[in-house]
Amino acid sequence: MHPFAYTRVSDVATAVEEVASDPGSEFLAGGTTEVDMLRVGVARPRRVVDINALPISRIEEGDGGVRLGGLARMSDVAAHPVVRERYPVLAQALEKGASPQLRNMATIGGNLMQRVRCAYFRDGGAACNKRVPGSGCAAVGGVNRGHAVLGTSEHCIAAHPSDAAVALTALDAVVRLRGPDGERSVPVDDFFLLPGDTPEREHPVGHGELITAVDVPPVPAARTSVYLKVRDRESYEFALASAAVVLRVEDGMVAEARIGLGGVATKPWRAREAEGALVGAPAEGASYELAAVREMQGAVPRGMNAFKVELAERTVVRALHMAAERQGGAR
Ligand SMILES: Cc1cc2nc3c(=O)[nH]c(=O)nc-3n(C[C@H](O)[C@H](O)[C@H](O)COP(=O)(O)OP(=O)(O)OC[C@H]3O[C@@H](n4cnc5c(N)ncnc54)[C@H](O)[C@@H]3O)c2cc1C
Repeated sequence: MHPFAYTRVSDVATAVEEVASDPGSEFLAGGTTEVDMLRVGVARPRRVVDINALPISRIEEGDGGVRLGGLARMSDVAAHPVVRERYPVLAQALEKGASPQLRNMATIGGNLMQRVRCAYFRDGGAACNKRVPGSGCAAVGGVNRGHAVLGTSEHCIAAHPSDAAVALTALDAVVRLRGPDGERSVPVDDFFLLPGDTPEREHPVGHGELITAVDVPPVPAARTSVYLKVRDRESYEFALASAAVVLRVEDGMVAEARIGLGGVATKPWRAREAEGALVGAPAEGASYELAAVREMQGAVPRGMNAFKVELAERTVVRALHMAAERQGGAR
C-alpha cells in the first residue's frame, strides 16, 4: 500500500486549513470508502486528515426542517425520530444502504463524497477517464450491467452509488460547506456534476472544502414518502434502480410530486420530466406509467444495462403507488 501520514484534528478551521494548504492531503471520516480507495491504490494521498473529532455530528431540528451534521453517522440519522417521522424516504434510503456495521461508521458527508463502484474505476490497469483523464472508458463497451443510462457521456457511464443522496435530492436538501474562503451552501441537485467531458470532476467543491452539514427543508408531504430500492439481493447491495418519492394527492389528483432516481444515472437524478407529467394528473396507474416513460425517454442504454430502462420505469410506478397508498389518496 502507498505510504501516507496521518493527522487527527479537533476543530473545523484547522481541518480546512490542513487539507486546503496541501494538495496531497484528504479528509478521513468513517473511512468506509477512503480506506478501500487507499487499499486499491486509487487514492494516493501523502496525508490523511482524520476529522472524526470535529464537533459536526449533531442532528438538530429547526425551522420545520432538520440539520444533519457532516459527521452524523448513517445509522444515527436513520434512527432519529424527526427523520423517521418527517422524512421516511431518507430513513429508508439510509437503512437500505451498505450493512449495519458500515452504517455505524459511515457519515453523511462521506456518503455524499463516496466514489463510484465501477470496476474499471477501481482497477488501476483499466482505462478510466475518471481516474486518469483522457485514458478512455472501458465500461462503454465492457461489462456495464450495473452502469448508468441517464446523464452519461461517451467519457463515463458510472452510476452514482449513494442511496441517501437520491432521497436528499427529492427533498431539495442543501449542502453546507466550509472552505478557506468561508462558508457557502450548494443545493444537493447542483452538488453532483454530470460527467460530460470532465468525469474526473464530480462535485463543485474545492480542495479542502469540508461538508459541515446538510440542511433538509420542511417538506410536509414527505411524511408519507417512500424509498424503493431494487437490487440483485435484498440486503448489502447497491441499487440497480431506486426511486425516492414524495407525493401529495388532493381530490384524486396529484398536487405535488418530487422524485429522485438512483442506480440508473451518473448522479442522484431528479426526475423533473416525470414530476411535470404528474402534477395535475389523476393519481392512478396510467398517469404513473406515462410519467415514468417520459422520464426514461432520454435514457442511453449500452448493451448489458438496457434492462435498466424498463426496470427504472417499473420502480417509479411501484414507488408512486406505494406513496399514494401511504397517503390514503390512491384510486
Ligand atoms: C461494502 C459496501 C457496501 C456499500 N453499500 C452502499 C449502499 O448500498 N448504498 C450507499 O449509499 N452506500 C453504500 N456504501 C458506501 C458507504 O455508504 C460510504 O462508504 C460511506 O457513506 C462513506 O462515508 P465515510 O464517512 O466512511 O467516508 P470516508 O470513507 O471517510 O470518505 C469518503 C470520501 O469523502 C471525503 N469526505 C468524508 N467526509 C467529508 C466531509 N465532511 N467533507 C468533505 N469531504 C469528506 C473523504 O475525503 C473521501 O474522499 C457501501 C460501502 C461499502 C464498503
